Amino acid sequence: MSTYDFDLFVIGGGSAGVRCARIAAGHGARVAVAEERFWGGTCVNVGCVPKKIMVNAAEYAGWADDAPAFGWQIEKGSFDLAALKVRRDAEVARLNGIYGKLLGNAGVTSFDARASFIDAHTLDVGGRRVTAERIVVAVGGHAVKPDIPGAELGMLSDDVFDLKEVPKRLIVVGAGYIALEFACVFAAFGAKVDVVYRDILPLRGFDQDIREALPEALEAQGIHLHPNSRLARLDHQGGHLRLSLMGGEALEGDAVLFATGRVPNTRGLNIAAAGIDCTARGAIEVDAEHRTTAPNIYAIGDVTDRLNLTPMATAVGHALADTLFGNNPRHASYDNVPTAVFTSPPIGTVGMTEADAAVQGPVDIYLARFTPMRHTISGRPGRKALMKLVVCQQTRKVLGAHMLGEDAPEIMQGIGIAVSMGATKEDFDRTIGIHPTAAEEFVTLR
Ligand code: NDP
Repeated sequence: MSTYDFDLFVIGGGSAGVRCARIAAGHGARVAVAEERFWGGTCVNVGCVPKKIMVNAAEYAGWADDAPAFGWQIEKGSFDLAALKVRRDAEVARLNGIYGKLLGNAGVTSFDARASFIDAHTLDVGGRRVTAERIVVAVGGHAVKPDIPGAELGMLSDDVFDLKEVPKRLIVVGAGYIALEFACVFAAFGAKVDVVYRDILPLRGFDQDIREALPEALEAQGIHLHPNSRLARLDHQGGHLRLSLMGGEALEGDAVLFATGRVPNTRGLNIAAAGIDCTARGAIEVDAEHRTTAPNIYAIGDVTDRLNLTPMATAVGHALADTLFGNNPRHASYDNVPTAVFTSPPIGTVGMTEADAAVQGPVDIYLARFTPMRHTISGRPGRKALMKLVVCQQTRKVLGAHMLGEDAPEIMQGIGIAVSMGATKEDFDRTIGIHPTAAEEFVTLR
């Protein structure tokens, strides 16, 4: 019998921590979790879930515009963000309850408290000393503002979920996932949206063809793009905000959203006391087993700053619990992880970009651009779809699949299975399409 209070203590009740705790308890371990803010973490409370509900709400704007072309005589009403907020918050509260129940049902001890290290086996949990044989750090990350004068006047993504009214003019800084998703949502809600970013194209790291096609789709919704822009300062001016850019240009808005990236939540954990090393960005250093520099302590999820995606975090948490307590040592693979950006239209992607694949050897590219049938009828601008396969010339394996277009996230989940199984272009070609769909283009690319 272990002399510790618990076999496993998980710090952080988000996607990674809850999954790891539940599965470990299911394997018979004595498990506890501490969460100081909200069960379910970023994803459930101020991330994927409430964001997707807002994306769903935003879609009605385009559909209402399209409706007359399909014979519907509809008057587009006004949008009430406060009404959406009530339903969205209720759904988040429902999911919070489910998370709590899942832990209780699995026999996990929950602490609604902050935990920090006293030493590698001892934690201060809300003022109480608790010991554990193994500890998993799953404390996630938080959004950060750029270092400019007046940054405190701008919002972070968490603050967006407190809004009860749509700002008339919204300035979004950044051109990553969060910036572009909210830019599209608020444009659909009727805001005048400016997006300010420092690169020439949005979505650094995505396939170049997707990056080049996206601006046209964003501008067609009335979003004003300001590429190649550097921030100087943010000021209050006569009841509104003024974002000054290097070079003299300035933008005026009623709200500014900084979507300029997220950093790991390692501060305040006293991790030095446990002998855990961090990277320069403050992420916990881990090996392939997710073990930190302290042999009994592991780190999973966004605090490791690897692929900051919920399904990746839960997969890693599950694999770690199986490895430590389930007599089933295994890894969750970071290769070929499908992902989506819920812009309008959305983006789905899996595997390598053309540029990354080309570094490894010659590739063949298959690409289609077309207007989906719905929009040949609706005539809505900016709805062209782009689909692309990156294929290894030598093995014919599909190394990457990329799509900008309606339903891209739903389509890419299935393509992800094929790519992770090592499907070749000929395997795609042999597959019969589902007609009429946009997805069938992936099996008819020439
Ligand atoms: P990203 O890293 O995706 O994008 C950050 C953006 O901010 C980039 O455009 C970056 O520019 C810019 N930026 C960074 N620092 C500055 C600065 N000082 N001044 C001006 N611009 C700056 O971060 P997000 O915050 O959008 O999202 C964080 C992570 O959350 C994502 O990487 C993703 O893993 C996850 N996420 C996933 C979602 C999904 O799956 N749909 C949705 C939302 C988030 P540059 O490119 O020039 O560096």
